[in-house]
Amino acid sequence: MALEIKINREICMGSGNCSFWAPDVFDLDDDGVAIVTSIDGSPEEKVILAAQGCPTQAISIIRDGEVIVQGAPS
Ligand code: SF4
Repeated sequence: MALEIKINREICMGSGNCSFWAPDVFDLDDDGVAIVTSIDGSPEEKVILAAQGCPTQAISIIRDGEVIVQGAPS
């Protein structure tokens, strides 16, 4: 899976939605902010659902240079 995942840590509110949808890709760090633990731990469609379900649009997904999910810019 040639995905690139970007998390805008400034606007992540720590809701945990992303780690619900794709628990093997997203987790929350000690500050309660989302991190990527594994780029290919969950199916791509789950990763995309996770990004689309982010309440603050903190997640961007890029596949082979094409923006699949446009999050809020950092
Ligand atoms: S869904 Fe969005 S706001 Fe919630 S933890 Fe993940 S990145 Fe942060």
